[in-house]
Amino acid sequence: MEEIDTKPATTRERVFIVEGALEEATADVIVVTAQPGLENGFGWFDYVKEHAGPEFEEALKKYKHCGVGSSRLLPSFEYKNFKAIAFLVMPPNFRMDATSVEAQRIRAFCKNTVDIAAEEEYSSIIFPSSLNNDGIDWVAPVLMRSFKEWARESPYIENFTEIRILCTSHEDYEHYVNAANRMTSTKRRYKANDEYDDDMAVEEPVAPTSKSRRRGEPLVPIPHEDIEHMKSNGMFLVLSAKLEPTILNLKDQDGKKRQYRMTNRSRDGRKLYFRCSRCDTLAKKCENAVRARLIICNGEVMGDEFPTHHADCEPWTDEQLLVQQIDRSSRKTVKEGLLQPFEAYQDALTRISSVVANDSNAIELPKFPEWNQVRHQYFRIKKRADREGEEEEEIPERMIDETAEIGYEDE
Ligand SMILES: [Zn+2]
Repeated sequence: MEEIDTKPATTRERVFIVEGALEEATADVIVVTAQPGLENGFGWFDYVKEHAGPEFEEALKKYKHCGVGSSRLLPSFEYKNFKAIAFLVMPPNFRMDATSVEAQRIRAFCKNTVDIAAEEEYSSIIFPSSLNNDGIDWVAPVLMRSFKEWARESPYIENFTEIRILCTSHEDYEHYVNAANRMTSTKRRYKANDEYDDDMAVEEPVAPTSKSRRRGEPLVPIPHEDIEHMKSNGMFLVLSAKLEPTILNLKDQDGKKRQYRMTNRSRDGRKLYFRCSRCDTLAKKCENAVRARLIICNGEVMGDEFPTHHADCEPWTDEQLLVQQIDRSSRKTVKEGLLQPFEAYQDALTRISSVVANDSNAIELPKFPEWNQVRHQYFRIKKRADREGEEEEEIPERMIDETAEIGYEDE
């Protein structure tokens, strides 16, 4: 019998680093990591599969469609040391070209796995010390941080007694102990990433429908030729906080990126009114502030192409625009029922790391919001989509007369 040595990362967090043999371990749930397709896995996958027996193998087949990051809980069948087996689908190797996004992605996967176990009212779980073919020097701090975050964020923490990282070698154990020590000695600054929090974004004020929208009258879409004309001028309408294509990103005279949101449009869809969203935010704090406005008529900028912005209005960085659109397009897949909320979030992280990896201009690595920061928003979209079914959501634009911009002030 091997000597079992335990080191709690902190007792409050209920995370324990343990050196020992799998044969002697017991808990409610054991985590195995597998490759997509679930036929092959990493670490103790084969051992667990063998001990759980043919029924487990059969049960796994139902989930071979699960993509990277997916987790499911299965019965432990013949493997009596555990009540359940959680599989977590992992890529064979981590992406080292987008390290901090990759770490964030892996942490989201691991936290989700613990949540799944907790939701089934299990209270102890064992994770392997390595998750795929890559060594543990990278993954040890990632895993430690993910459990620390889980302890801080999860509503299930009170009912959970133990997250154990089982190290089957002393070397692995030391890696984890070091990672845990480093973590407790450096306090991570926690900054809310409100730039991407669509709850805090300036939403298009929706006018009361009864007054401003003539019911039953269809809103004429922006003519196709106008949209094409805009595109040929480098103007693309992208998704707003309400997931409508009403946002326009344009360069100013200095080549800096500005973002305008459509605040109004003519009934025939040929005249579009935009305002800079950041100027709008600033204008709320002081009266008579400068707010950049832009009008597009028949697909072309009418009047001032480079409107003056508020002195404190900051241009957008490529990273901010990228993160915003990836996040919103992921939310849209939830709204359209194409992906479940967590899957959509994972998809966003995956896309962001591949964009960064493929970008020859090597833009700075964007900070994508953490799952716990956006989770409720993704679920709210899903709830709303489920409730409304096929029914169309309220259209943010108002119906107005041909060309006039009727008193459309939200302050
Ligand atoms: Zn502005």
